[in-house]
Amino acid sequence: MKIPFLDVYSINKEFYQDFSNDFKRVFDSGSLILSSEVEKFEDSFANYCDTKYCVGVANGLQALEITLRAWGITKDDEVIVPSNTFIATWLAISSVGAIPVPVEPHIDSFNINPDLIEEKITDRTKAIIVVHLYGSTCEMNKINEIANKYSLKILEDAAQSHGGKYQARKVGSLGDAAAFSFYPGKNLGALGDGGAITTDDEKLFKKVRLIRNYGKSENYLNNILGMNSRLDELQAAFLSTKLKKLDEINLRRRNIALRYIDELSKIKSIKIPKLNQNSFHVFHLFVIRHSQRKKFRKNLSKLGVETLIHYPIPPHLQSAFSYLNLNEGSLPISETIHKECISIPLYQTMNEEQISYVISSIDKASKNL
Ligand SMILES: *Cc1c(COP(=O)(O)O)cnc(C)c1O
Repeated sequence: MKIPFLDVYSINKEFYQDFSNDFKRVFDSGSLILSSEVEKFEDSFANYCDTKYCVGVANGLQALEITLRAWGITKDDEVIVPSNTFIATWLAISSVGAIPVPVEPHIDSFNINPDLIEEKITDRTKAIIVVHLYGSTCEMNKINEIANKYSLKILEDAAQSHGGKYQARKVGSLGDAAAFSFYPGKNLGALGDGGAITTDDEKLFKKVRLIRNYGKSENYLNNILGMNSRLDELQAAFLSTKLKKLDEINLRRRNIALRYIDELSKIKSIKIPKLNQNSFHVFHLFVIRHSQRKKFRKNLSKLGVETLIHYPIPPHLQSAFSYLNLNEGSLPISETIHKECISIPLYQTMNEEQISYVISSIDKASKNL
């Protein structure tokens, strides 16, 4: 049997007829940029995230970047960021000229360790970016306390956690603002690129709306420097269709993950994700760890199970960030995670047979090292 890591075709196929209707409606309307579909999606996504406002933008990276710019974060400002994340989180900070200040994760949760944040705060620190990595939320009570004490903004990188919750509160409403990506492989994915910012802050809302569209108000008045980062009408229409099923999609993903946790916990040589009581985990990724990753992956690949590494090199060891002089060994927990982590197939259209095959293959692959 062959199990791909992700089957984007199959996860979109069930929406084929609805997407066709969306296409026809947008085509017939003749309005292709920042019109009723984007507005409709923004309203429903704000509602879904329990926030007052949502602004659709071109992608997740720019959702992060625009928010930092709207807060006036600029050259030589410092922004606290997890050391264990996708590079886009760091790129948003460097793109406004600010300095990423990394904080190590808990090895079990993969997420930022709140107890290590305070020692990194200086008088140049302006914000904390939290990443709800792989779909599990960060410890927001502790992080909010620190942010209040030092008057820092909190930006959620929610690119992997649409529909997740911390205690009873929705991802997207857990900080001062949140940035989402609708890249096709995300839990809420478009048929191309897309992104959004959610917030309760009216001032921020108004500013990010200006920035995403050249900084242009009505009458072509440009009072601030903007950019072009608009969510596409057609993608917004597809996203509205998919949003209606997001809770169901997340439940299907969770059911597969809970079965993995149950059955894979019997295999001694692998480390599986731990569920956190405070977090409703939406399992964007199911990441296990193995100390002999290379051989283990090779065995799995021979059995037809495709795996990926999220991520092979942590941001601080990427050449692009060599100017920060964060050498090998400077962030050891992150480095260990990057050396040992393996993401196994998990998507909502996997059937029982495929799930069982992944589990039995992992068992076989771990014995034969
Ligand atoms: C996908 C992702 C992004 C970037 O989103 P794009 O839409 O690809 O720009 C940012 N942060 C994290 C954690 C992501 O997984």
